[in-house]
Amino acid sequence: MSEFSNAMEVFKLLDKSNCRDCNEKTCLAFAGAVYQGLRHLNECPKISKEIIQQYNGDQPQERSSIELEMTGFVEDLKKQIQSIDLLSITDKTGGRIVNNKLTIKILGKDISIDSQGNLYSDIHLHQWITIPLLSYILDCKGLPLSGKWVPFRELKNGKTFAPLYEQRCEKPLKKVADTYTDLFEDMVHLFNGRQVEKHYQADISLVLHPLPKVPILICYWKPDDGLESSLHLFYDAVMEDNLNIRAVYSLVAGLVTMFEKISLRHGVK
Ligand code: SF4
Repeated sequence: MSEFSNAMEVFKLLDKSNCRDCNEKTCLAFAGAVYQGLRHLNECPKISKEIIQQYNGDQPQERSSIELEMTGFVEDLKKQIQSIDLLSITDKTGGRIVNNKLTIKILGKDISIDSQGNLYSDIHLHQWITIPLLSYILDCKGLPLSGKWVPFRELKNGKTFAPLYEQRCEKPLKKVADTYTDLFEDMVHLFNGRQVEKHYQADISLVLHPLPKVPILICYWKPDDGLESSLHLFYDAVMEDNLNIRAVYSLVAGLVTMFEKISLRHGVK
């Protein structure tokens, strides 16, 4: 869990110049992201080393930061879930009711939620799964997807997170694909990825469903004839009708972290 009990505790440590060097619009936005565990204090260049050390922010930043416990935030989302009739949202969320619980597939695995917001699954529920899932249940409008794939920064609010997204999502995922290409392909299949018709002449074109109405198209081009490899993720143009951009970012960053960990554990170069 973030060591802070609320965002204002973080905010008090900032210089409040709203300089945007951290790629957030304001210091308050940065404080909120630190509180939620999405950012680290040491990503604000204006905080003194002493303060960072005090809050352990001098530790090498690991991708697992996205998995930091965010219990307070999760509890808030769960409370909001309690006011929803889960039976009435099966269609729009793409879920089904099993034993009075709304059951939703995440990467092919069932996760159930009861009317109190408690989650049940055979898989380990990381924060990077639970927060986007709860946000999805709360936000999902269930409107038809457009079928048009766009890069992250072309999503309605994509630019807000684009610099972070590139650093923490596409760049490290490309590294995994470059280093462990076969394993990468296997992993994507393992998570119920579906091979699709080649997009943009990519060597690998796969669609993952981290949430039923949040598909992600992964395209990877292997190095060829002196050309560097390339990897890009694409999203349905209206995906933000189903999941807010912060949750999308959190979900994909978590997914990439998981890919990195599996690669390090099992990958053979
Ligand atoms: S870099 Fe630091 S001071 Fe500047 S906006 Fe971000 S948090 Fe505020």
